[in-house]
Amino acid sequence: MPIFHSIRFRLTLWYVLFLAVILAGFSAGVYLALRTSLYGNLDDSLENRASVALDTIDYQDGSPTLETQQLVLDPNEGEHFTRVYDATGSLTFDDSPQADRPSVDQKTVEAALQGETTVRRVKVGDQNMRVRTLPVRRGGSVVGALEVGLSESDVSDTLRILLLIIAVAYPVTLGATSFGGVFLAGRALAPIDQITRIARRISAEDLSRRLDLRLPDDELGRLAHTFDDMIARLDEAFRRQRQFTADASHELRTPLTSIKGQVEVTLSRERSPQTYREVLGTVNEEVDRLIRLVGSLLTLARADAGQIPIAKERVDLAGLVASVVEQVRPLAEERGVALEVATAPSATLEADEDLLLQLLLNLLDNAIKYTEKGGQVTVGWASRDGSMELRVRDTGAGIPPEQVPRIFDRFYRVDKARSRAEGGTGLGLSICRWIAEAHGGSISVESTPGTGSTFTLRLPT
Ligand code: ADP
Repeated sequence: MPIFHSIRFRLTLWYVLFLAVILAGFSAGVYLALRTSLYGNLDDSLENRASVALDTIDYQDGSPTLETQQLVLDPNEGEHFTRVYDATGSLTFDDSPQADRPSVDQKTVEAALQGETTVRRVKVGDQNMRVRTLPVRRGGSVVGALEVGLSESDVSDTLRILLLIIAVAYPVTLGATSFGGVFLAGRALAPIDQITRIARRISAEDLSRRLDLRLPDDELGRLAHTFDDMIARLDEAFRRQRQFTADASHELRTPLTSIKGQVEVTLSRERSPQTYREVLGTVNEEVDRLIRLVGSLLTLARADAGQIPIAKERVDLAGLVASVVEQVRPLAEERGVALEVATAPSATLEADEDLLLQLLLNLLDNAIKYTEKGGQVTVGWASRDGSMELRVRDTGAGIPPEQVPRIFDRFYRVDKARSRAEGGTGLGLSICRWIAEAHGGSISVESTPGTGSTFTLRLPT
């Protein structure tokens, strides 16, 4: 993986760029502040020197001069000087060193004699000097000019050292931070590499693997956890899919094996027309079962793929229940089960009428099928908490509590033999649940073995 494609690299790059700008700003700020302060100090010293010199000025024949010569062994010789000019602009005192004598600037002397104070910079030898030229007054009138100079070398030395420190410290700091950044980003992002490595090994065939990383509850910890949850859900979905395919194949094979067996036995020798008719009748029943099974499978497959459109319209509940009851009444009569519609206020629903009809047919069909002779099935509805509750109650065998959560699963049957004998496919309730959920509702069951079951369908109104 090229380094430029790593977050670690980009994070460090941005971090170092950001730091480079901040450091540059900071260094420039420190440099400028120190420079201003040092030059300010230099100007203050220059001013002090000038006022001390003014206080010690002597007059010879009315011309200002200084008596005090500098010490011969002045350790700071060459770093400062004092000059005095008389009213004509001629030098009357000058203690600047012979070798490196700053030139006299007549213009500034003239300006001082006019009463003006000036500060300028003069290059003397290899150093810069700050020079202050000011008028010398006696009895209110200008009688000469005083000039004091101070070397800037201390200031420029200090500033040069600071520049040197910055020049060395800047790249060193940036270099160190880059290394630190790469290291820290690497440490922080290491779990991502780990997640990627393990995730690559998790394939559709082996979804049992998990990251199982012991990470703190931070962004990456939560990512790893969410990833594991997602794999667990996928694992469960794949498992159900495999189970469904296996169950479906099994369900299809049973009637086919039965048909094949009967046909083979019948064809093994000559039979009477009566026997042929009977066998064909049984084969016909099995084919019916197969047609129902394939129909249900198709419905569920299309439902899973989101291919069944839900055409909602206003449905009159009483009318719908009446038509379902009429359809199942012959079956109820045949089984000796009483069928009753509980009195309820008229109500309407926003729903797909055909799907709702199919759902109620399934519930009623089951209720009648799993209720013994002499039992009763009641349909009723009531509006509750803004939704409509439709109940199908029977006095049948009921469902054992441990099996209740599973009866909406595909192909799940409490009593397989009985369901088969009744022509059931084990898919009816799965389709009911899908229809309820597709309408934004739910379906549930309460059941006590021996006393019967109540299926409750809740739909938004
Ligand atoms: P089937 O085609 O077997 O009826 P369903 O999905 O409709 O499939 O129902 C699943 C299972 O739930 C049934 O096999 C039966 O064991 C149980 N069941 C459904 N309705 C009732 C009921 N009213 N009373 C008792 N058991 C029921």
